[in-house]
Amino acid sequence: MYAQVLHEWGGEVVYEEVSTPVPGAGEALVKVEACGVGLTVLNYMQGNMGRRPEDLPRIPGHEVVGKVVELGVGAEGLQVGDRVMAYFYLTCGRCDFCRLAHEPLCRNFQGYVGVARDGGYAEYMTLPAANLLPVPDGVPPVEATAIPDAIATPFHVSHRAGIGPGDLVVVVGAGGGVGIHMVQMARVFGAEVIAIDLGEEKLRATREVGAVAAFDFSSPDLLDAVHSIAPLGVSVAIDLVGKPETLSFCQEILGRRGRMVFLTTFPGITTEVSPRRMVLEELTLIGSRYTSRWELLKAAQLVAEGRIKPIVSSVVPLARVRELHERLRAGTLLGRGAIVLEEGT
Ligand SMILES: [Zn+2]
Repeated sequence: MYAQVLHEWGGEVVYEEVSTPVPGAGEALVKVEACGVGLTVLNYMQGNMGRRPEDLPRIPGHEVVGKVVELGVGAEGLQVGDRVMAYFYLTCGRCDFCRLAHEPLCRNFQGYVGVARDGGYAEYMTLPAANLLPVPDGVPPVEATAIPDAIATPFHVSHRAGIGPGDLVVVVGAGGGVGIHMVQMARVFGAEVIAIDLGEEKLRATREVGAVAAFDFSSPDLLDAVHSIAPLGVSVAIDLVGKPETLSFCQEILGRRGRMVFLTTFPGITTEVSPRRMVLEELTLIGSRYTSRWELLKAAQLVAEGRIKPIVSSVVPLARVRELHERLRAGTLLGRGAIVLEEGT
């Protein structure tokens, strides 16, 4: 089969022919229909989510949608022909956090799909049956690629931050893959949203999915602009960028009882916190890590019901995935990208 293969952490993928994987015990072989392309993929290709030499060569891609074509011995809960999407984390299913449906905190975490084992930048892939969840009827493959991470992650954030009616939420990085769905999800949970990103195209897209206002992070009047809508500050600030300046901006615009959510894990980034202000204004800082299987399925249901619209702005064949990587690095990809697998690609 053909695949995009990473040969060194920090390198680019190479399109080449590799042997088709065989499902092991408890695993299924999936014929890939489409796979999402977003910043997280670049992040782990860079070696930021594990860089063990024994994990190379590696096929990246974790937002996989496809059809089960073969089952390994003892693969439970699936049938040949099922349409499935991948859960990103390799977890034990037995520890206390797994049992609580807090799988991202699994005590026996075995790594990420696309990092610790091969992902979906390929015609076929194998995964443990527990990592394959059903795609709701009527959701086409490319749209479904946005569910396992770009849409399910905002669902988890909304829980973590307790977003509800009456909240005014700022999303920084709102035009990106997670961001454009975070804007929609916060609205589904009942909040109003102010979107922040760079460039008019992304800002317009966030307004189109329901942001009450959208502002450019590079504007010198940014704080004034947000305060014109939220004179007492916002109740929730979500940082999807992870730079020192966006992290301090999020803290700065919080109002009393405000909650700030961190989602990025770039090494070496720190931010200053004022304990005095934390106490006097009862602020809360929250980390939010990926999503549970239960939340992923709930997020999928919202897509099937038409309440969340997957924004996948650019689709290319498997052979051309590098083009999407370039656009992600340049910050010019709106929402998510995806590769599609067709006969002959
Ligand atoms: Zn576990």
